[in-house]
Amino acid sequence: MTTIDEVRKTLGGKPVLLVAPGDAGFDGVAPVVFAGDGAEPALVARPRDVGEVSAVVRAAAATGVPFAVRGGGHAYARYGTVAGGLVLDLRLLGGVQIDPERRVGIASAGTTAGDYTGAAAEHGLATGFGDTLSVGVPGLALGGGIGYLSRRDGLTLDNVLGAEVVLADGAVVRASDDENPDLFWALRGGGGNFGVVTRLDLRLTPMTVVTGGLLAFAPDPRTVGALLAAAAAAPDELSLMVNVMKAPPAPFLPAERHGTPIVVALVCHSGAPEDADAALAPLRAAGTVLVDLVRPQPYPDLFGLAPSQAGMWPAQRTGFVQTVVEDVAAQVIDAVRTAPTPVAVLNLRPMGGAIARVPRDATAFAHRDREVLATVGALGPDGGRVAEARDWVGRTADALGLGGAAYVNFVADPGAGAGDAYPPATLRRLQAVKRQVDPANLFRSNLNVLPVEEPAPARA
Ligand SMILES: Cc1cc2nc3c(=O)[nH]c(=O)nc-3n(C[C@H](O)[C@H](O)[C@H](O)COP(=O)(O)OP(=O)(O)OC[C@H]3O[C@@H](n4cnc5c(N)ncnc54)[C@H](O)[C@@H]3O)c2cc1C
Repeated sequence: MTTIDEVRKTLGGKPVLLVAPGDAGFDGVAPVVFAGDGAEPALVARPRDVGEVSAVVRAAAATGVPFAVRGGGHAYARYGTVAGGLVLDLRLLGGVQIDPERRVGIASAGTTAGDYTGAAAEHGLATGFGDTLSVGVPGLALGGGIGYLSRRDGLTLDNVLGAEVVLADGAVVRASDDENPDLFWALRGGGGNFGVVTRLDLRLTPMTVVTGGLLAFAPDPRTVGALLAAAAAAPDELSLMVNVMKAPPAPFLPAERHGTPIVVALVCHSGAPEDADAALAPLRAAGTVLVDLVRPQPYPDLFGLAPSQAGMWPAQRTGFVQTVVEDVAAQVIDAVRTAPTPVAVLNLRPMGGAIARVPRDATAFAHRDREVLATVGALGPDGGRVAEARDWVGRTADALGLGGAAYVNFVADPGAGAGDAYPPATLRRLQAVKRQVDPANLFRSNLNVLPVEEPAPARA
């Protein structure tokens, strides 16, 4: 009997929806967002309530089958699937509840950023996520969550008030400042290592109209540094990201620029509308503006800007920089010009503001004092060009000096280890929690924290 047969037998009598290759609907539920090497899963389990999640987790633990937990499916390293194994697909566990009085939003495991943002907007409220509505809320929040409100309200994980978690032994527990505080600490930054989060309680903030959108500039190396300097001096109400990128064939960009390097700022001013122009002026003065789509708009409308990357093969490296000096910006612009993939980008996300006000050890996201999160990415539909794309990413990231510390949610290398993302003290604390709640490392399709003790540093 194969282990998959054992899973079926273990789940026998439980009403969990199981979908296998050849079953109707398998081709719709098995893929994750990105293309990649590796065979498809042998079984996808689609629980509809927490009891069924627990049953699937117990079956995975009992059989030892290769196991992955899938939320929105957006992990660049394709953590949400596993070749020949069992995928726990959380998408049928949707549902958002908004409590406007307490200003708390409750996201079930299958909730996307779009589901939640739309429901909260009906009450004039929001919780900050990233830039893309199809991303899963727990998947985003467990790693960090940096986006349009981060400098004002912190990362998504800074707004997590509590969680319901199915642990590796199938037990359902709560985690918050008052209940299982070590687990609560680890969940906020430790990714999917500690259990299946079936519910997140999130802080909501009043939000109706923002002044935001896209500013596209000519590819002048000085513009990159000027935008980052403006961001560093900006009020917390201004969050932005800067892309040095191959211009996509978007109708709002001049046709002659398509496929050539441009500098784009995606901005969101969430303070008083009458303060927006003054806050945005230094950005508008950062270079030759080609397109200015920044205007007052309902907060959810900001999210139409990010193009879909579904079906692409990702190559990516992430880290932190202080700034991008002119000479390096010029190298990146040149690199973008000759990149082997249709999507080629240096994505820069200024941190600071509320992100930096959280103490470094308050959550498992320890990069509080970093100035700019930087990610070099090359994506395209042709799997045959991945090696070339990785080389390009490596060279460009080296020019920026990226390395040594990564942002969990942007890691694309399936072989990356937790030591690439967490400082030693954070990693040791994560490992201690892992030993408590998942000693057999059932939850390992992620940036894996091993349930081991760090070896003591060698004595001189
Ligand atoms: C197009 C695109 C845009 C993005 N934009 C941003 C952005 O602006 N800001 C930002 O911070 N990030 C961004 N990300 C990164 C994104 O936050 C991460 O990839 C995130 O982990 C995706 O979560 P998911 O549930 O969609 O993906 P999945 O691949 O399903 O899950 C990712 C990881 O989380 C685990 N996981 C998911 N749900 C649960 C759960 N309920 N319980 C336990 N573990 C779980 C999975 O096992 C896996 O290890 C973006 C990614 C893409 C592809």
